[in-house]
Amino acid sequence: MRKLAILGSTGSIGTQALDVVKRHSDRFEVTALAAHSSSEKLFEQVRVFHPKIAALTVEPKDIPADIRNACQWMFGEDVLLRVVRACDAQDVLVSVVGVVGLAAVMESLSCGKRVLLANKEPLVAGGELVTEAARKAGHPLLPVDSEHSAIFQCLQGAQGNTPERLILTASGGPFRTWKKEDIFYAKKEQALKHPNWNMGRKITIDSASMMNKALEVIEARWLFDMPPEKIDVLIHPQSVIHSMVEYADGAVMAQLGTPDMRLPILYAMSWPERLTTGGKKLNFAEMNALTFEQPDLDRFPGLGLAYKALAAGGTTCAILNGANEIAVDAFLNDRIVFGCIPQLVEETMNAVASISHPTLEQVFESDFAARRKARELLEAGRFSH
Ligand code: NDP
Ligand code: MG
Repeated sequence: MRKLAILGSTGSIGTQALDVVKRHSDRFEVTALAAHSSSEKLFEQVRVFHPKIAALTVEPKDIPADIRNACQWMFGEDVLLRVVRACDAQDVLVSVVGVVGLAAVMESLSCGKRVLLANKEPLVAGGELVTEAARKAGHPLLPVDSEHSAIFQCLQGAQGNTPERLILTASGGPFRTWKKEDIFYAKKEQALKHPNWNMGRKITIDSASMMNKALEVIEARWLFDMPPEKIDVLIHPQSVIHSMVEYADGAVMAQLGTPDMRLPILYAMSWPERLTTGGKKLNFAEMNALTFEQPDLDRFPGLGLAYKALAAGGTTCAILNGANEIAVDAFLNDRIVFGCIPQLVEETMNAVASISHPTLEQVFESDFAARRKARELLEAGRFSH
């Protein structure tokens, strides 16, 4: 029986993780659940999963009488850290959204817990520190992001052979076939409609701008200790191949499956064992074709920024990430048009000084400086259309 804490239990990944836990209740026990403000959803999860700790950053007006004494309740800004410290879980699934998960990832590792990582922004912002902390903790970081889970799975039989190349697949998002000008002025409803995956709002916008793939290139650089020039992105609209690994002899290992996040979530939970997800299996005979395209950096300039940030090093990736969080928020609040997202990120990267060999504090400083600069650029009206 493995004890699991879920940070971000009310979100897309969190609820799918609970679905998997329910299916394998003889294997996994949820001992802590945390979210931001979705109190009704969390109350229902407490009724079903009986955690020892339940937490929200925003304190609700009231806790229903039937569950008021069912567990320990925690509220407040620093609740994720307090949950990590107080819970008896061996595994912490970090599925909050944004760099806000970074401190909790570091705390989990320093408490000797295994981290199952869906939340990609902490690796983007503090990749070197996070991977170093995992090495010290003596646990692998178990990736939940489907591409990184695919690569992790492909590497299981590596027998000490180092891959020559990682090939991250990308669906291309809702604007894959759109003209540059149309993408620039794409509407919120259009950007929020992903062709293959049903996810939280932030990652859905990132997928439409391909900034998600930029974040994933950086994520792969740290998770698999690969130089950026050996990480390729390939558009694969069917999302059947979740990513690939190429070896010196030209052999390519791929992981395939239906687009269902329960597989990578469960694999991180049960690794190295494989359990059933209850999801649909692939039917090759029903598949028309698997197709591939080169990504177009002219129409999706956000993707190129990953390589630029990695080449610059220091805290540039943290600056990219912080600026992108502000840009996505501005787009979702109708303050900028879609095409301004990568522009705001790039201008912020150019304007904020990177700190080399940063401490965790300095990563947070750069994230803060990037947010401040991005907000300043917005206030100055540079991106109003
Ligand atoms: P959602 O927006 O659906 O869920 C986010 C979760 O985090 C919610 O439970 C939310 O609580 C909680 N949360 C947000 N901010 C805070 C905070 N400050 N403190 C505590 N909890 C917080 O996001 P997703 O599930 O889609 O994504 C989560 C992460 O996983 C992201 O980093 C994303 O990039 C990554 N990911 C997601 C995939 C997917 O298929 N969804 C695939 C691959 C990676 P509340 O409900 O109260 O707001
Ligand atoms: Mg992904």
